[in-house]
Amino acid sequence: MTTSQQLFEKAKELIPGGVNSPVRAFRAVGGSPLFIKSAKGPYIYDEDGRSYIELINSWGPMILGHAFEPVEQAVRDAIQHSFSFGAPTRKEVEMAELIISMVPSVEKVRMVNSGTEATMAAIRVARGFTGRDKIIKFEGCYHGHGDSFLIAAGSGAMTMGVPDSPGVTKATAADTLTAPYNDLAAVEVLLENNHNQVAALILEPVVGNMGCVLPEPGFLEGIRSLCDKHGVVLIFDEVMTGFRLARGGAQERFGITPDLTTMGKIIGGGMPVGAYGGRRDIMDMVSPAGPVYQAGTLSGNPIAMSAGLAMLRHLNDNPGVYSRLEEIGTKLHTGFSNSLAKLGLPFTINQIGSMFTLFMTERSVSNFADAKTCDLPLFGRYFHAMLERGVYLAPSQFESLFVSVALTDELIDQVIQANEESLTVAL
Ligand code: PLP
Repeated sequence: MTTSQQLFEKAKELIPGGVNSPVRAFRAVGGSPLFIKSAKGPYIYDEDGRSYIELINSWGPMILGHAFEPVEQAVRDAIQHSFSFGAPTRKEVEMAELIISMVPSVEKVRMVNSGTEATMAAIRVARGFTGRDKIIKFEGCYHGHGDSFLIAAGSGAMTMGVPDSPGVTKATAADTLTAPYNDLAAVEVLLENNHNQVAALILEPVVGNMGCVLPEPGFLEGIRSLCDKHGVVLIFDEVMTGFRLARGGAQERFGITPDLTTMGKIIGGGMPVGAYGGRRDIMDMVSPAGPVYQAGTLSGNPIAMSAGLAMLRHLNDNPGVYSRLEEIGTKLHTGFSNSLAKLGLPFTINQIGSMFTLFMTERSVSNFADAKTCDLPLFGRYFHAMLERGVYLAPSQFESLFVSVALTDELIDQVIQANEESLTVAL
């Protein structure tokens, strides 16, 4: 037994399923998860001393690679002043100022502790602002584990086969309306059938949580104008795409202005952080400026703010990071496509910048139904073959890869080679 296996056996006795977040358990791909000891730059190291090229990067935050020196230094400096005060700090002001300067639609912002908190708060504010109860989300999009979002949810919920989780009340579920991603007509029908009842429409402007799925041309524009027409608050969930697809996230890349934006992952530099922000008139509904209550003992935590500020400042000051991420994404796409052609495999690759999924299906993937046609046993074999070749992928077909800027050309070539061999072995 490896050390990871031993730890997993023990963990299963102590922690539900042996993990603190479901998709980590390797359920979808079989086998025992790696227990991680450390990571540096483009590599992650397990308890058995093996190293892997990182293509998960903590599900997004480590966009600059692991243990990025300025972030480490910022945390070292911050811990000398204690860990938490539960009172306002200068760093929170600096963080708000920086986010507002980077994310086009954000005029005011509130820090929280996770992406889930951000999305839960954003819909509460939208409900408070509009006086309406219902929300619209898309099948296969994941917005964290708040009750309202565990309806046709993607990511781990999709991987575990529980897109509609037990424990969510019928009344809550009834207030969440769903439509297929990229289907404007379906959204229009929902809005007309629920006239003046829909508070918010929330979406991932590029989906990462059913694998990487791009908005079709005109989709985001269409959503924006439908929301305007029906007085619906448009929420871009940029927990994954924020500070990744561009300095100002997907909204900058696609030139669409949402009313509210939810953020997480990268803004914490690897620490537990989330944020929601947007139009001043909507954000001024939030307590204590307005009546919509939302709070947090550790919100705006000084260590998390320090890590996040160092990360965001680096991204803000170094546009070269984004051009390099585009280059890496394109190189991987080209290399994987060449291998698919060589092996005569008709599979689909969706990629935008540093988000990337190889879907084991012949269908082009533009929504949940398409993603579900993938050959999951084949993905499981492929995943383990990649692991054996030292490449650490998300252990589910329904996830995106998250590339970091620490990936060198030499490592990209190794990944491409490992992919070709793994496909051959897995078939
Ligand atoms: N929204 C999106 C788009 C996400 O991808 C995630 C997590 O992966 C969340 C929200 C939830 O964030 P967290 O896991 O920090 O609660």
